[in-house]
Amino acid sequence: MGWLRDWRRKRVLARHRFDDALWRRALTRLPFLRGLSADEERRLKDFALIFLAEKQLTPVHGLVLSDDDRLEIALQACLPILALGLDWYDGWVGIVVHPADFKVQRAQTDEVGVQHEWDDELAGESWPGGPVVLSWEALDDAGSVAAGGANVVLHEFAHKLDMMTGEADGVPPQPSRAARERWIGIFDADFDRFCSDVDAGRRTFLDPYAAEHEAEFFAVASEAFFEAPNALKREFPGTYGLFRDFYRQDPATRLQA
Ligand SMILES: [Zn+2]
Repeated sequence: MGWLRDWRRKRVLARHRFDDALWRRALTRLPFLRGLSADEERRLKDFALIFLAEKQLTPVHGLVLSDDDRLEIALQACLPILALGLDWYDGWVGIVVHPADFKVQRAQTDEVGVQHEWDDELAGESWPGGPVVLSWEALDDAGSVAAGGANVVLHEFAHKLDMMTGEADGVPPQPSRAARERWIGIFDADFDRFCSDVDAGRRTFLDPYAAEHEAEFFAVASEAFFEAPNALKREFPGTYGLFRDFYRQDPATRLQA
């Protein structure tokens, strides 16, 4: 079916153009998109248009999204897979956008068989094979994004890549068993160091939430990799190197200027 998909994608690109004014507005709101080569910029724009044609973006509870809003979600979602390819987002179609942070009901049975239930308030969520859920309030926090703060889109789509090997565990697909073991060695050492800093109450460069689980460390560090790469490289050079090889991008070099 590869040819059919290629044909559909070519048709999408023939019918849609990425408006220059819109791109300039996106760069103001998402300054970490600066520094791409002409080729990368064209590829990112193409990916974003195809992404919007193939995925189902659904605002809920009365939320209305403009063309700018949709394209900005798509640009951020496509940045991590810019060198990997759109196929990395195969296997699911839905993106649900809530107006604000949303509540989800959790239930878990503990080791002695007692059922616990609680509400979680979330800015984003993603499931293996399921939709990505985002909070527009968290997503629209342009000041925070521009300052290299939390980025819920990069976060949830990093989880999606991590989940390609099953449960999110902080280890996205690796080319070999040796590469996987190397990843775990370097990544876990940085994660452990980060957790000790959080436990000791030290100020950390990454959001302390990243200490919850290896998967959260991967997602939060991925946000920093694209938004504040030089700081990530300084704090966690080992993890930065793993991410550079995995994402096949070197944002610290392109955002240096
Ligand atoms: Zn997360």
